Amino acid sequence: MHYLDHAATTAVLPEAAAIACRVMTEQFGNPSSVHRMGIEASGILETARKQVAAILSASPSEVTFTSCGTEATATAIYGACRRKGRGKHIITTAIEHSATLNTVRQLEQEGFEVTYLQPDADGHIAVSDLRDAVRPDTVLLTCMLANNEVGTILPVKEFGKILKKKAPQALFHIDAVQGLARIPIKPKLWNADFISISGHKIGAPKGIGALYIRKGVRIAPLMVGGGQERGMRPGTEATPNIAAFGEACRIRQEQLEDNYARVEALCAQLEAGIAQRFPWAVYNGKHDMPHVVNVSFPGCKSEVLLRVLEMHEVYVSSGSACAKGKASHVLAAMQLGHERIDSALRISFAPSNTPEDVEALLDALEEGTKRLRRE
Ligand code: PLP
Repeated sequence: MHYLDHAATTAVLPEAAAIACRVMTEQFGNPSSVHRMGIEASGILETARKQVAAILSASPSEVTFTSCGTEATATAIYGACRRKGRGKHIITTAIEHSATLNTVRQLEQEGFEVTYLQPDADGHIAVSDLRDAVRPDTVLLTCMLANNEVGTILPVKEFGKILKKKAPQALFHIDAVQGLARIPIKPKLWNADFISISGHKIGAPKGIGALYIRKGVRIAPLMVGGGQERGMRPGTEATPNIAAFGEACRIRQEQLEDNYARVEALCAQLEAGIAQRFPWAVYNGKHDMPHVVNVSFPGCKSEVLLRVLEMHEVYVSSGSACAKGKASHVLAAMQLGHERIDSALRISFAPSNTPEDVEALLDALEEGTKRLRRE
């Protein structure tokens, strides 16, 4: 099997799975219980919080565990926008994940005005566009660190600087789900108030995420209940998933540079293979991160090509896993033509991939594209 769809999700690291299993079957106490089992569970929770904080260059008290990246993002966006007596203007980009886009669309229904910064043909968002968009009544800038479909990196450091200068009252949320464990996360340098992350993209199980909330920032939670996570995210903590998330963060942070170099080499191998075997293929976006490569094979419908690749046990995607079957809003915002959008494949690497995976993909692509172009 050659799995090259790690931006959608990735395998749980064996070390993370082992910890989750131990916490589920042996150290299964409720962190709120005052007996020994509870104290042990609370210790597991706080160890994981420190591990997640370390990869975020944050302090543990700035980390709130959530059920996923989507919940972290919703908590930040609703929390920032529903503060009383502030403005009604939100800034985001047209290339955000649906977790962000659908949340701000809901706020639009509630009377907020949203500015959607548009990408250029490479998938980049211009710093000058943000400068023009910030207003005295801006309450929130929410944007991603790295795009999940084309691998571009947004200029979050410059964005943070401009936002805090032109609208000091506004809060800054960064969706770092695709950047986590791939590039360093620097909340202070970026002037970030919130950062969303997700476990299942980095080797933790599905169903765990976290939100960095800068010390001193006060927002209302999405739900009320038992007061867990300092009231920000009530509900008994998912200690098995949380422990696994902490362990995955620890491992991936330790290996960050080595893993980056490994993925960079795989990406270079893919690009060389494409140049040699498919000189007619077109890249979509400038993948600043080597982890995500988006490329169109004109004349070959991606949905059909995906099936051919699957017959060779090669798994890639035609875009975001959350946009199943729909044309990519990211490629559409980049104003790429219909044929290019319709024939786009997203290939996304993890450090566990090998040169053989890339060769298998290239071979399968050769067979698939020959057949489809002939047809
Ligand atoms: N943001 C980005 C950029 C993503 O790629 C994803 C997942 O695909 C999410 C948010 C949502 O994360 P989760 O699946 O944990 O809700």
